[in-house]
Amino acid sequence: MKRLLAIIVCCFILATGYIAYVIAERQAALQKVARYNEAWTVSQTLAEFMRLEHRLASHGLDPAMVDLEEVRLRLDFMFSRLDTFEQGTLREFIGSDEHHQQVLRTLRTTLEALDRDLMRSEHLDLARHLASLAALDGPMTRLASAAAEFGTSRIDQDQGHLIRLHLIYTALAAGLITCGIALLILLLHHNRLLNKAHKGMRRLTENLQEASDELQAHNHRLTHVAHHDSLTGLPNRIQFRERLDEILDAPGNSRHPIALLFLDLDGFKDVNDTLGHDVGDALLKAVAERLQAALDGSDFVCRLGGDEFAILTSGGEDGRGLDVARRLIEDVGTPYSVNGREIQIGTSIGVAVSDDGVAPDDILKQADLALYEAKASGRGKASLFRPAMFTELQDRKSFETDLREALAKGEMQLHYQPQVSAVSREVEGYEALLRWNHPLRGQVSPALFIPVAEQAGMIHELGDWALRTACHEATTWERPLRIAVNLSPVQFHSKALLANILEALRQSGLDPERLELEITESVLLDASERTLTTLNSLKEIGVNIAMDDFGTGYSSLGKLRSFPFDKLKIDRSFIRDIARQADALSIVTLVIGMAKGLGMTTTAEGVETEEQYQCLRQLGCDQIQGYLFGAAQPSDDLGISRRRPIGQSAAGGALPAAAATPRVA
Ligand code: C2E
Ligand code: CA
Ligand code: CA
Repeated sequence: MKRLLAIIVCCFILATGYIAYVIAERQAALQKVARYNEAWTVSQTLAEFMRLEHRLASHGLDPAMVDLEEVRLRLDFMFSRLDTFEQGTLREFIGSDEHHQQVLRTLRTTLEALDRDLMRSEHLDLARHLASLAALDGPMTRLASAAAEFGTSRIDQDQGHLIRLHLIYTALAAGLITCGIALLILLLHHNRLLNKAHKGMRRLTENLQEASDELQAHNHRLTHVAHHDSLTGLPNRIQFRERLDEILDAPGNSRHPIALLFLDLDGFKDVNDTLGHDVGDALLKAVAERLQAALDGSDFVCRLGGDEFAILTSGGEDGRGLDVARRLIEDVGTPYSVNGREIQIGTSIGVAVSDDGVAPDDILKQADLALYEAKASGRGKASLFRPAMFTELQDRKSFETDLREALAKGEMQLHYQPQVSAVSREVEGYEALLRWNHPLRGQVSPALFIPVAEQAGMIHELGDWALRTACHEATTWERPLRIAVNLSPVQFHSKALLANILEALRQSGLDPERLELEITESVLLDASERTLTTLNSLKEIGVNIAMDDFGTGYSSLGKLRSFPFDKLKIDRSFIRDIARQADALSIVTLVIGMAKGLGMTTTAEGVETEEQYQCLRQLGCDQIQGYLFGAAQPSDDLGISRRRPIGQSAAGGALPAAAATPRVA
């Protein structure tokens, strides 16, 4: 392009120079031709006129030397010369002056007269004609010189005009050349600028590309962060929801049902609270890895948050989802080694299978309900969603609402079941057992409402009420009998437990030695520092600790060594068969022997027959509790002698605040 422009501009310069040269040449040529044109014609006419005059004179002197024919020839020449005066610039020259016209008219008249006479040769008057011609010599000569003058002035005029034109043209050409050069310079400059701009653009484009790449990478990172859990690297709740919508919106999803699994870790909170968040985080990572390893590539695992995970797996038919859930419960329940510690947790799983056209929100609710049921039925369980769960949920909700109001409405009561000496059959103490009398539901078993209270977080308030009421009740008895109060494992999650017990003792004025707290083996499941600290603190203040329902839970004799219990309560499932089944007898014999060896007393629960009692007495069991000696009864029906009427504190003053409330049954 640059080269092409340069060539064009060069051609332009050459052409302009060449035109200037041609004009100069033409001007010179014109000058030459024009200089001789009019002047020459008139001078030739003058010469011809002279020749005619001479020939005519010679003929007059010697007709033999110059004949008439020659004169006539000369005359014809003259006529032809005269004709040239009628044309072109000569005509213009003649027309410019009246005198010139007069000379020519006279010449023509004279020549025509001569011609007429020559036609009639006998009448030729030579002298007259010569005189006429001679009279024209002067005017003709002046005409010739005037023609020369006219030509010269005309040439000068033209030349001046041409010079002016040439000057204008030269100036124009010079201007054009200058413009051309300027154009070339401008073009070069422009080109340089364009090159610069082009380079700048390229740099800018590169920068933009870089920025765009960076932005894209940043976007990718952001999208990844927005869609993944930072701790485990698993997809998060947002991605899970997108995936679920995608699967359920896909045409024909009913032909390929999917199972949605909701996982909630059992016991994770304890690990986090007692071993710290670092261990909790490491544990969550390990769980995530196990889940991924247990599933195949087509399954989708995500962490919903906290200790909750969700899994989408194909093929919900034939209970496959439930099979996967059971396998995962086993995998997750295998002990972990974190920071050199062995940790065991479990998981509960709710399973929902996609029906024809089920909405994402609905299947989420279904899996949630199934998980709720799984958790309600104990640790490490899996439940498959059933439509009845919706009504059960409603029932549970109204049950929960009623339970929440039970204390305030005074529907809660404590009943007391005697614990008698196996040797003397004398009452040594009572176990306080909660009763809920609902106006419509009737007597609700604690086996039903305690788990609900535990799940809904109401057990703290309820347990605290039972503790204060039982302590207060015991202070009214004349004999310093022991009062046993049940403590839920959930109550051990509360940091306020120790303070609450101390406060109940302080308010009631009960001797701590008379208070016995019954805890189940599940409290010792992880044997966390805090649990053991609480138990030891209780022991230090003199409170007795009994292990309840021994043999039913996750019995491990090793656990018994982690804390020095005062008492072992042998579960009634063993007592029931003691008189008939040898294995039950063997177990009870073993437990009593072991308890003695560890310095613990034993209480047999659920003793209903004399036979069972006799058997236990012989085995050396210390205490008996069961219908044989009395079911749990309201305090008024205990038939016990009291130090003072119920409603007065040990110090004889007003009732302690908690127990004095109208809630006390
Ligand atoms: P538990 O601590 O094992 O209480 C003993 C249960 O066995 C009581 O059931 C009692 O009525 C029953 N029982 C006593 N003797 C016999 C017998 O000879 N035969 C039969 N078949 N049963 C007998 P209850 O009162 O329904 O309590 C059930 C469970 O509810 C209790 O079991 C305890 O775990 C829980 N519970 C009761 N009150 C409280 C409480 O105040 N706090 C807590 N955390 N749990 C409580
Ligand atoms: Ca108990
Ligand atoms: Ca028990």
